[in-house]
Amino acid sequence: MPELPEVETIRAQLAPRLEGRLLARVEILDPRLTRPYDLFEVTEELEGDRVRSVERRGKYLLLRFESGLALLVHLRMTGSFGFTPTSHERAVLELDDGSRVAYRDVRRFGTWLVLDEGGELEQYLARKNGPEPLGTRFTASWLGVQLARRRAPLKAVLLDQRVVAGLGNIYADEALWRARVSPLRPANELASEEVGRVHRAIRSALRAGIERQGSTLRDYATPDGTSGSMQDEFRVYGRDGEPCLRCRTTIAKARVGGRGTWYCPRCQP
Ligand SMILES: [Zn+2]
Repeated sequence: MPELPEVETIRAQLAPRLEGRLLARVEILDPRLTRPYDLFEVTEELEGDRVRSVERRGKYLLLRFESGLALLVHLRMTGSFGFTPTSHERAVLELDDGSRVAYRDVRRFGTWLVLDEGGELEQYLARKNGPEPLGTRFTASWLGVQLARRRAPLKAVLLDQRVVAGLGNIYADEALWRARVSPLRPANELASEEVGRVHRAIRSALRAGIERQGSTLRDYATPDGTSGSMQDEFRVYGRDGEPCLRCRTTIAKARVGGRGTWYCPRCQP
Protein backbone atom coordinates (compact mmCIF):
# COMPACT_ATOMS: atom_id res chain seq x y z
CA MET A 1 0.00 0.00 0.00
CA PRO A 2 1.40 3.42 -0.91
CA GLU A 3 2.51 5.36 2.17
CA LEU A 4 3.36 9.03 2.64
CA PRO A 5 6.52 9.05 0.45
CA GLU A 6 4.77 7.25 -2.43
CA VAL A 7 1.65 9.46 -2.28
CA GLU A 8 3.84 12.57 -2.02
CA THR A 9 5.77 11.46 -5.12
CA ILE A 10 2.52 10.95 -7.03
CA ARG A 11 1.27 14.37 -5.86
CA ALA A 12 4.46 16.07 -7.03
CA GLN A 13 4.13 14.56 -10.50
CA LEU A 14 0.39 15.24 -10.85
CA ALA A 15 0.50 18.85 -9.68
CA PRO A 16 2.25 20.42 -12.71
CA ARG A 17 -0.04 18.49 -15.10
CA LEU A 18 -3.30 19.25 -13.31
CA GLU A 19 -3.02 22.59 -11.56
CA GLY A 20 -4.82 25.34 -13.48
CA ARG A 21 -6.34 22.82 -15.90
CA LEU A 22 -10.05 22.36 -16.53
CA LEU A 23 -11.50 18.84 -16.51
CA ALA A 24 -12.99 18.83 -20.00
CA ARG A 25 -14.25 15.27 -19.69
CA VAL A 26 -14.47 12.88 -16.76
CA GLU A 27 -15.12 9.20 -17.20
CA ILE A 28 -15.56 6.97 -14.16
CA LEU A 29 -15.56 3.34 -15.23
CA ASP A 30 -16.07 1.52 -11.94
CA PRO A 31 -19.02 2.17 -9.60
CA ARG A 32 -16.98 0.87 -6.65
CA LEU A 33 -14.70 3.88 -6.89
CA THR A 34 -17.30 6.43 -5.80
CA ARG A 35 -19.69 4.36 -3.69
CA PRO A 36 -21.90 4.96 -1.80
CA TYR A 37 -22.31 7.82 -4.29
CA ASP A 38 -23.47 7.33 -7.84
CA LEU A 39 -20.63 7.52 -10.36
CA PHE A 40 -22.65 9.70 -12.73
CA GLU A 41 -23.33 12.18 -9.95
CA VAL A 42 -19.61 12.41 -9.17
CA THR A 43 -18.77 12.70 -12.87
CA GLU A 44 -21.16 15.62 -13.19
CA GLU A 45 -19.71 17.35 -10.13
CA LEU A 46 -16.16 17.18 -11.47
CA GLU A 47 -16.68 17.84 -15.16
CA GLY A 48 -16.05 21.44 -16.19
CA ASP A 49 -14.33 22.34 -12.93
CA ARG A 50 -10.82 23.77 -12.81
CA VAL A 51 -8.10 22.26 -10.57
CA ARG A 52 -6.77 24.83 -8.15
CA SER A 53 -4.22 22.64 -6.36
CA VAL A 54 -3.06 19.07 -5.89
CA GLU A 55 -2.23 18.39 -2.25
CA ARG A 56 -1.61 15.47 0.09
CA ARG A 57 -2.91 14.78 3.58
CA GLY A 58 -1.60 11.57 5.18
CA LYS A 59 -2.12 8.91 2.53
CA TYR A 60 -4.85 10.92 0.79
CA LEU A 61 -4.41 12.85 -2.44
CA LEU A 62 -6.49 15.99 -2.45
CA LEU A 63 -7.54 17.88 -5.57
CA ARG A 64 -9.05 21.28 -4.79
CA PHE A 65 -11.27 22.89 -7.42
CA GLU A 66 -12.25 26.47 -8.23
CA SER A 67 -15.88 25.67 -7.36
CA GLY A 68 -14.98 24.95 -3.73
CA LEU A 69 -15.33 21.19 -4.17
CA ALA A 70 -12.49 18.83 -3.39
CA LEU A 71 -11.77 15.32 -4.63
CA LEU A 72 -10.23 13.10 -2.01
CA VAL A 73 -8.47 10.05 -3.45
CA HIS A 74 -7.24 7.12 -1.38
CA LEU A 75 -5.13 4.67 -3.38
CA ARG A 76 -5.47 1.81 -0.85
CA MET A 77 -3.68 -1.31 -2.13
CA THR A 78 -3.06 -0.81 -5.83
CA GLY A 79 -4.38 2.60 -6.94
CA SER A 80 -2.12 4.70 -9.16
CA PHE A 81 -2.23 7.49 -11.74
CA GLY A 82 -0.68 7.45 -15.19
CA PHE A 83 -0.28 9.64 -18.25
CA THR A 84 -0.29 6.83 -20.80
CA PRO A 85 -3.18 4.40 -21.41
CA THR A 86 -2.88 1.10 -19.56
CA SER A 87 -4.94 -1.83 -18.31
CA HIS A 88 -7.28 -1.73 -15.29
CA GLU A 89 -8.22 1.94 -15.75
CA ARG A 90 -11.08 2.86 -13.42
CA ALA A 91 -11.35 6.55 -14.28
CA VAL A 92 -10.04 8.91 -16.92
CA LEU A 93 -9.64 12.69 -16.75
CA GLU A 94 -9.38 14.54 -20.06
CA LEU A 95 -7.95 18.01 -19.59
CA ASP A 96 -8.56 21.21 -21.54
CA ASP A 97 -5.03 21.07 -23.00
CA GLY A 98 -5.83 17.73 -24.65
CA SER A 99 -3.85 15.65 -22.18
CA ARG A 100 -5.15 12.65 -20.30
CA VAL A 101 -4.68 11.40 -16.74
CA ALA A 102 -5.96 7.93 -15.88
CA TYR A 103 -6.57 6.28 -12.55
CA ARG A 104 -5.58 2.61 -12.51
CA ASP A 105 -6.49 0.13 -9.79
CA VAL A 106 -6.04 -3.63 -10.18
CA ARG A 107 -7.64 -4.70 -6.91
CA ARG A 108 -10.25 -1.90 -6.83
CA PHE A 109 -10.01 -0.90 -3.18
CA GLY A 110 -9.23 2.75 -3.96
CA THR A 111 -11.83 5.44 -3.30
CA TRP A 112 -12.81 8.78 -4.85
CA LEU A 113 -14.86 11.04 -2.62
CA VAL A 114 -16.08 14.54 -3.47
CA LEU A 115 -16.50 16.85 -0.50
CA ASP A 116 -17.26 20.52 0.04
CA GLU A 117 -14.32 22.59 1.27
CA GLY A 118 -16.55 24.54 3.63
CA GLY A 119 -16.17 22.45 6.77
CA GLU A 120 -17.09 19.02 5.42
CA LEU A 121 -13.63 18.33 4.02
CA GLU A 122 -11.61 19.54 7.00
CA GLN A 123 -13.81 17.57 9.39
CA TYR A 124 -13.40 14.41 7.35
CA LEU A 125 -9.63 14.77 7.13
CA ALA A 126 -9.26 15.66 10.81
CA ARG A 127 -11.28 12.62 11.84
CA LYS A 128 -9.05 10.27 9.84
CA ASN A 129 -5.62 11.85 10.23
CA GLY A 130 -3.39 12.99 13.05
CA PRO A 131 -0.66 15.57 12.43
CA GLU A 132 1.54 15.43 9.35
CA PRO A 133 4.80 13.82 10.50
CA LEU A 134 6.90 16.30 8.52
CA GLY A 135 4.92 19.29 9.75
CA THR A 136 5.35 21.42 12.87
CA ARG A 137 2.39 19.95 14.80
CA PHE A 138 4.06 16.54 15.00
CA THR A 139 6.31 16.95 18.02
CA ALA A 140 8.01 14.43 20.31
CA SER A 141 5.83 15.53 23.22
CA TRP A 142 2.65 15.06 21.18
CA LEU A 143 3.83 11.57 20.15
CA GLY A 144 4.68 10.81 23.78
CA VAL A 145 1.13 11.62 24.90
CA GLN A 146 -0.32 9.35 22.20
CA LEU A 147 1.96 6.43 23.10
CA ALA A 148 1.41 6.81 26.85
CA ARG A 149 -2.29 6.09 26.56
CA ARG A 150 -1.93 2.85 24.59
CA ARG A 151 -0.76 -0.58 25.77
CA ALA A 152 -0.73 -2.10 22.27
CA PRO A 153 2.62 -2.92 20.61
CA LEU A 154 4.45 0.25 19.54
CA LYS A 155 4.32 -0.64 15.85
CA ALA A 156 0.53 -1.15 15.93
CA VAL A 157 0.05 2.28 17.52
CA LEU A 158 2.30 3.94 14.94
CA LEU A 159 0.15 2.48 12.14
CA ASP A 160 -2.90 4.30 13.51
CA GLN A 161 -3.31 7.21 11.08
CA ARG A 162 -4.64 9.40 13.90
CA VAL A 163 -1.26 9.07 15.63
CA VAL A 164 0.98 9.61 12.58
CA ALA A 165 -0.74 10.46 9.28
CA GLY A 166 0.77 8.68 6.30
CA LEU A 167 2.94 6.16 8.14
CA GLY A 168 2.44 2.54 7.00
CA ASN A 169 4.00 -0.87 7.36
CA ILE A 170 7.27 -0.21 5.54
CA TYR A 171 8.26 3.14 6.98
CA ALA A 172 7.16 2.16 10.51
CA ASP A 173 9.64 -0.75 10.44
CA GLU A 174 12.35 1.42 8.91
CA ALA A 175 11.78 4.15 11.50
CA LEU A 176 11.92 1.76 14.46
CA TRP A 177 15.17 0.22 13.20
CA ARG A 178 16.65 3.72 12.96
CA ALA A 179 15.34 4.50 16.45
CA ARG A 180 16.73 1.24 17.89
CA VAL A 181 13.42 0.41 19.57
CA SER A 182 11.54 -2.90 19.28
CA PRO A 183 8.21 -2.80 17.42
CA LEU A 184 6.88 -5.31 19.96
CA ARG A 185 7.27 -3.08 23.03
CA PRO A 186 4.04 -1.89 24.69
CA ALA A 187 3.67 1.71 23.49
CA ASN A 188 3.14 3.09 26.99
CA GLU A 189 6.42 1.64 28.29
CA LEU A 190 8.77 3.80 26.25
CA ALA A 191 11.07 6.16 28.10
CA SER A 192 10.83 9.77 26.95
CA GLU A 193 14.32 9.56 25.48
CA GLU A 194 13.13 6.62 23.33
CA VAL A 195 10.04 8.56 22.24
CA GLY A 196 12.38 11.31 21.08
CA ARG A 197 14.39 8.82 19.03
CA VAL A 198 11.23 7.34 17.48
CA HIS A 199 9.96 10.83 16.61
CA ARG A 200 13.19 11.77 14.84
CA ALA A 201 13.44 8.38 13.12
CA ILE A 202 9.90 8.60 11.69
CA ARG A 203 10.80 11.90 10.08
CA SER A 204 14.14 10.73 8.71
CA ALA A 205 12.74 7.45 7.33
CA LEU A 206 9.93 9.31 5.53
CA ARG A 207 12.31 11.97 4.19
CA ALA A 208 14.61 9.23 2.84
CA GLY A 209 11.59 7.68 1.10
CA ILE A 210 10.54 10.98 -0.50
CA GLU A 211 14.09 11.66 -1.72
CA ARG A 212 14.09 8.31 -3.52
CA GLN A 213 10.59 8.81 -4.96
CA GLY A 214 9.12 6.09 -2.77
CA SER A 215 9.64 2.35 -2.89
CA THR A 216 8.67 0.19 -5.82
CA LEU A 217 7.01 -2.98 -4.65
CA ARG A 218 4.48 -4.88 -6.73
CA ASP A 219 1.97 -2.39 -8.14
CA TYR A 220 3.31 1.00 -7.17
CA ALA A 221 4.34 3.18 -10.09
CA THR A 222 4.69 6.93 -10.36
CA PRO A 223 2.43 8.74 -12.88
CA ASP A 224 5.26 9.34 -15.36
CA GLY A 225 6.09 5.62 -15.37
CA THR A 226 9.37 5.86 -13.49
CA SER A 227 9.78 3.90 -10.29
CA GLY A 228 11.04 4.85 -6.86
CA SER A 229 14.24 3.33 -5.52
CA MET A 230 13.68 3.30 -1.76
CA GLN A 231 13.38 -0.51 -1.83
CA ASP A 232 17.15 -0.64 -2.49
CA GLU A 233 17.75 1.33 0.69
CA PHE A 234 15.62 -0.65 3.15
CA ARG A 235 17.57 -1.21 6.36
CA VAL A 236 15.21 -3.82 7.79
CA TYR A 237 11.90 -4.16 5.91
CA GLY A 238 11.67 -7.54 4.14
CA ARG A 239 15.19 -8.54 5.22
CA ASP A 240 14.38 -11.51 7.51
CA GLY A 241 17.27 -13.97 7.66
CA GLU A 242 19.75 -11.31 6.50
CA PRO A 243 22.32 -9.68 8.80
CA CYS A 244 21.48 -6.40 10.54
CA LEU A 245 23.37 -3.56 8.84
CA ARG A 246 24.39 -2.23 12.26
CA CYS A 247 25.30 -5.30 14.32
CA ARG A 248 25.20 -8.31 11.93
CA THR A 249 22.56 -10.11 14.04
CA THR A 250 20.02 -11.96 11.89
CA ILE A 251 16.92 -9.83 11.22
CA ALA A 252 13.77 -11.38 12.69
CA LYS A 253 10.21 -11.33 11.40
CA ALA A 254 7.11 -11.16 13.57
CA ARG A 255 3.46 -10.31 13.09
CA VAL A 256 2.16 -7.19 14.77
CA GLY A 257 -1.49 -6.29 14.35
CA GLY A 258 -1.66 -8.76 11.48
CA ARG A 259 1.19 -7.07 9.59
CA GLY A 260 4.60 -8.54 8.72
CA THR A 261 7.13 -6.79 10.93
CA TRP A 262 10.92 -6.86 10.60
CA TYR A 263 13.37 -5.89 13.31
CA CYS A 264 16.80 -6.63 14.76
CA PRO A 265 16.38 -8.60 18.02
CA ARG A 266 19.72 -7.28 19.29
CA CYS A 267 19.87 -3.57 18.57
CA GLN A 268 16.12 -2.98 18.84
CA PRO A 269 15.53 -4.12 22.45
ZN1 LIG B 1 21.19 -4.97 14.86
